[in-house]
Amino acid sequence: VSIEISFHGAAGEVTGSCTLIRTDSARVLVDCGLFQGSESAELKNRRPFPFDPGRLDAVVLTHAHLDHSGRLPMLARQGARCRVWCTPSTLPLLEILLRDAAYLQMDELNRCLRRRARRGGNVHGPCMTPLFTNDDVTALLGKVSPLPYGRPREIAPGVRLRFIEAGHILGSAGVELSVDDGGHRRTIGLSGDIGDPGSAILRDPETFEAPDAVVLESTYGDRDHRPLEQTLDEFRQIIYEAVASGGKIIIPVFAVGRTQALIYHLGRMYHDGRLPGIPVYVDSPMAVKATQAYRDHRHVFDAESRALAQRGEDPLSFPTLRLSATAEESRAINALAGPAIIMAPAGMCNGGRVLHHLRHHLYKPSTHIVIVGYQAEGTLGRRLVNGEPAVSIYNEKIVVKARVHTLGGFSAHAGCTNLLRWASALASRDVRLFLNHGESRPREALAHLLETNLHLRAELPARDQRYTL
Ligand SMILES: [Zn+2]
Repeated sequence: VSIEISFHGAAGEVTGSCTLIRTDSARVLVDCGLFQGSESAELKNRRPFPFDPGRLDAVVLTHAHLDHSGRLPMLARQGARCRVWCTPSTLPLLEILLRDAAYLQMDELNRCLRRRARRGGNVHGPCMTPLFTNDDVTALLGKVSPLPYGRPREIAPGVRLRFIEAGHILGSAGVELSVDDGGHRRTIGLSGDIGDPGSAILRDPETFEAPDAVVLESTYGDRDHRPLEQTLDEFRQIIYEAVASGGKIIIPVFAVGRTQALIYHLGRMYHDGRLPGIPVYVDSPMAVKATQAYRDHRHVFDAESRALAQRGEDPLSFPTLRLSATAEESRAINALAGPAIIMAPAGMCNGGRVLHHLRHHLYKPSTHIVIVGYQAEGTLGRRLVNGEPAVSIYNEKIVVKARVHTLGGFSAHAGCTNLLRWASALASRDVRLFLNHGESRPREALAHLLETNLHLRAELPARDQRYTL
């Protein structure tokens, strides 16, 4: 049997994951994510797929993040009839994220149409049609089949799928595809996004058993994060300062993943008597729903969080935590006097409720902004990190007197030392290794580390590049 693998996204970048595996008898697509962040992303999302969606035998999803899942509804729209496989705990997050993405695109279209009408017609070019609609999401979700971790299952002629834990967000999985090759099996492992071992709530990432080829992510292939303990110390210090000065702590967050990790850490601090009794707000309907999805899937938590749950302690709750879903609840937070912690999307401050909170508090010296995730070039979050003295929010100039802190240790991605540790299971095996999901510098750095430390030679695929295994 000949096996071919080709990379149609996240090749030399961190978004748009999309990998096709072709055998003599089956075509299996792993992930179909949106390109995000860069100016060319919109164009890349609109390129036709370099394969026929109608001829796919199966689609496998590593986890719910949009840069891995966000083009799935387009596959359905363009004729894919096959099943889409993911872990059971990925399913609720997938629905939350895809419905929100469909809503935002429709909202954007309506705004554009109104703007154009106000200007008296088509003076600024056509408005972008949405990549997909809520109906496309419904059609896609109808094709999803959940498959629990560790249970092999035939998903296409001669191709068996098994999910392993990836420890990145709830439900995240590495994908093991084993292909029947006339009596013996050949195995391909795709890591998906890998978390750091020991991170909050989730189990540590697992490795593949005896793979013949591996695709490994390389997001942080060139650096390590600060140790978690050190990050938590810094975080506590910021909280004490804010309490002393009566200021607000504003944390721009992604609704899925980082929010739940922060709730977990704040809850631990509370129960250890190390969190002053100030209110902690999670201000996002999406984050509230995602947190509930985590609570509903405790059976995939790590031993520590499962033990907490068994003692009757909710690892994702503590007495001063307030989840606000409605707009009134959100506005009420701004009227509040005294210190408080406010987590709100968007994670890079390029939209969402965090803008209201920043507008109300950026000009005060008592305010602390805590950055916990990657801030892309051109976003408000990046301007804050760069220390710009004034920024524009809703076309209003706001001076920045708040203190801006960057805490790297809450990352959902493994740093390079842990990527190497994960890959050490492959050393001394005859394995084809590919790196994707990483910008060129971290990807090349990881390739170098793999070569010098483990004598593993990695290939760095370009977009649409094909390899025969
Ligand atoms: Zn991810």
